[in-house]
Amino acid sequence: MELWFTEKQNDDFSVSYRVVETLRVEKTPFQHLAVLDTVPFGRMLVLDGIVQTSVVDEYIYHEMIAHVPLNTHPSPKRVLTIGGGDGGTLREVTKHPAVEKATLVEIDERVIAASREFLPELSCGFDAPNAEVVIGDGIKYVADNKNTFDLIIVDSTDPVGPAVGLFSLEFYRSIHQALKEDGLFVAQTESPYFNADLIARIYKDISGMFPVTRTYWACIPTYPGSMWSFTIGSKKYDPLRVSPEEIADYPTRYYTPAIHRACFAMPRFLEGRFE
Ligand code: SAM
Repeated sequence: MELWFTEKQNDDFSVSYRVVETLRVEKTPFQHLAVLDTVPFGRMLVLDGIVQTSVVDEYIYHEMIAHVPLNTHPSPKRVLTIGGGDGGTLREVTKHPAVEKATLVEIDERVIAASREFLPELSCGFDAPNAEVVIGDGIKYVADNKNTFDLIIVDSTDPVGPAVGLFSLEFYRSIHQALKEDGLFVAQTESPYFNADLIARIYKDISGMFPVTRTYWACIPTYPGSMWSFTIGSKKYDPLRVSPEEIADYPTRYYTPAIHRACFAMPRFLEGRFE
């Protein structure tokens, strides 16, 4: 018998993965959680029916959400990640030689527990000596910590359930206050193919308060349509003004100095949409 997991993007489009084994299924206080071992992408974390990450392609998302902004700031000593309960972003942040303290605030401790049990390649990020893990609502944490961080990374689920507020104008205002005077932030901002209007709204909100706003993208096979966007809001530093020799040298599998620049180029169908 074949077992399949289907992620439904909308009424007309879905993606299916052949499942080897269901490792965990539970209802947490915040969401439905599953860990599946799949044939094409290995172990996968699924929240509310949406693939969050897979051990085969996770490095693309985690390197791109972390290293583009990390290498835009000349000295990212204090870094905050909101969400990111699988640990992959923390693993990448703690690779950067300038980072002194990397705090992660995840609302759902069951995500961290499942990742520790089934996704050690990602959850190793929690054990870095300069990592700090806080269980709580990222919205409150950001509001309670003013003028503290060089970089904030919003590694959230889609804008449903507890993550709705992580895509709001109020949250971006609060992030602005939690950053130091030359700080910057990045958020995963969904699919340019399916959610271009949402990205355009986010871009407008962020550019209304951050002098430098830039959207970039990468192809992540397990996200619907593959093409995925990230948006940076920066008080001072421009990711496009970083020269290759300023980029810290540490091992990556996707991110390179050339990608740092190339990822900001938009294909023609998106030209002018996020500016
Ligand atoms: N890479 C992923 C993606 O784009 O699909 C996101 C991965 S990470 C698992 C997302 C995490 O954000 C989830 O574990 C979820 O519990 C967490 N989260 C959602 N809302 C949150 C909030 N308000 N505060 C802190 N964490 C939150």
